[in-house]
Amino acid sequence: MAAHSDGGHTAIVIGGGLAGMLAVTALLGRVDTITVVERDRYPQEPAFRKGVPQARHLHILLSGGERALEELLPGTAAALTGAGARSLYLPRDLLTRTPTGWQRRFDERRHRTLSVTRPVLDAVVREQALRAAAGSATRVEVLEATEAVGLTGDAGRVTGVRIRPRDGGPGGRAERVLPAALVVDASGRGSRTPQWFTALGRAAPQEETVDAGLAYATRMYRPKDPATAPDAGVNVPGWPQCPRGAAYVPVEDGKWLLTLSGVRGHHPPTDAAEFTAFTATIGDPYVHELLARAEPLSPVHGFRDTCNRRRHYERPGALPEGFLVLGDAGCTFNPVYGQGMSVAALGALALRTALADGGLRPGATAAAQRAVARSVEPAWLAAVGSDRPYASPADTTAGPGERLTTWYLDRLAARAAIDPVVGAAFRDVFCLTAPPARLLAPRIVLRTVFLPRRPGLPGPPAVEGR
Ligand SMILES: Cc1cc2nc3c(=O)[nH]c(=O)nc-3n(C[C@H](O)[C@H](O)[C@H](O)COP(=O)(O)OP(=O)(O)OC[C@H]3O[C@@H](n4cnc5c(N)ncnc54)[C@H](O)[C@@H]3O)c2cc1C
Repeated sequence: MAAHSDGGHTAIVIGGGLAGMLAVTALLGRVDTITVVERDRYPQEPAFRKGVPQARHLHILLSGGERALEELLPGTAAALTGAGARSLYLPRDLLTRTPTGWQRRFDERRHRTLSVTRPVLDAVVREQALRAAAGSATRVEVLEATEAVGLTGDAGRVTGVRIRPRDGGPGGRAERVLPAALVVDASGRGSRTPQWFTALGRAAPQEETVDAGLAYATRMYRPKDPATAPDAGVNVPGWPQCPRGAAYVPVEDGKWLLTLSGVRGHHPPTDAAEFTAFTATIGDPYVHELLARAEPLSPVHGFRDTCNRRRHYERPGALPEGFLVLGDAGCTFNPVYGQGMSVAALGALALRTALADGGLRPGATAAAQRAVARSVEPAWLAAVGSDRPYASPADTTAGPGERLTTWYLDRLAARAAIDPVVGAAFRDVFCLTAPPARLLAPRIVLRTVFLPRRPGLPGPPAVEGR
């Protein structure tokens, strides 16, 4: 790696959340020192923290994300299940109600998703990443309770980060500069990089948004009698005629998370009684019936900023030298598709691969950012293709290709619910283990376009093929 000014062979990662820890993993062996700047103090035991407000809501790790995580940090999947993460094979262990009926419950086992609360997932990944760092030639230090407040450098190159301690201490809250040859923004959905770029005298990146106007509300439960707990999670997503949905899934320690969702005009309430009443208004009564057999363990928490938002740092000239963006700081998704964490892991893997071919030569960060963008693309197309029917007029408009995607995806999703061949392809792509081109294989197109639309099953099904 080329040393630069007084930043030497040093990288700074802004944000010590999931993408931050995976950025550290991707950079091990590429730089001498990595300093992680994290605004929060990490809790002793897994617990919610202010810097990751979405952590109270249901988080599923898709098989594509699990595989990327495992490649970056071998042993993480076992560590997660050891910490209580539940393995849900799709479609067997997640009963899904589509607009036309319940999805068939094939015992397919191609895709395992992991279901666990975010604090546990983050703690396990952090432990794995810091253990890998301890065994590497790169020195990693984490500055907790320290906030990044700006960048140093000029329009052409970032040379460091301005940081400020969050809680007083001997130096008070005075700002100081950390020089670095490479800065990675992994500060999540609240990233300030566009404003920081403006302060350096360069343009903010081009931004694309598709906002379904969705809100979430989540509460934790425990089945009153484990013997009568459901044998699978339940997913009743909203659809245009009934834009209210629910997902009820098991997590660690016998607990279950219920997340309700609704688009504009149908936002789920955060009042406990109204929250329960909302479950009777979604597309199927099954979740409402299950709640009668469970006791709540938490208040209801709401969340509203669920827009698909992509900042194009990979476009020509969009990135200064010495700077990269990973995770939600670059791209956020409507959470109903469960993609964000997996995309962070796939991006970190792309980053590691890109840097393996020659380290941080001039232009290497721009090339690495393009590789990260390519890893985001399939998830982005799936999310915005599905969300267009709900998008607000202010959003970036859909081109003909995207309109065709929306039409085709709607037909494909209906067919996938009843057809094992189309269903397998659908899951491969939505679980981020195959490129979208898999949905255009001749066999899949023929079955999707020419076979008649048939309704799904009338009620929550038992496993097929046992
Ligand atoms: C309601 C909801 C539900 C979701 N469900 C799923 C799901 O089911 N599956 C899935 O894969 N994804 C899901 N996601 C997406 C997932 O939460 C994100 O993709 C993931 O957290 C991205 O990780 P990140 O590290 O980029 O950001 P974060 O996890 O948000 O971490 C950002 C970190 O940066 C720190 N930070 C921020 N600013 C600064 C600063 N200035 N200085 C220093 N530190 C800073 C924060 O304290 C935090 O630690 C969901 C998102 C939402 C909103």
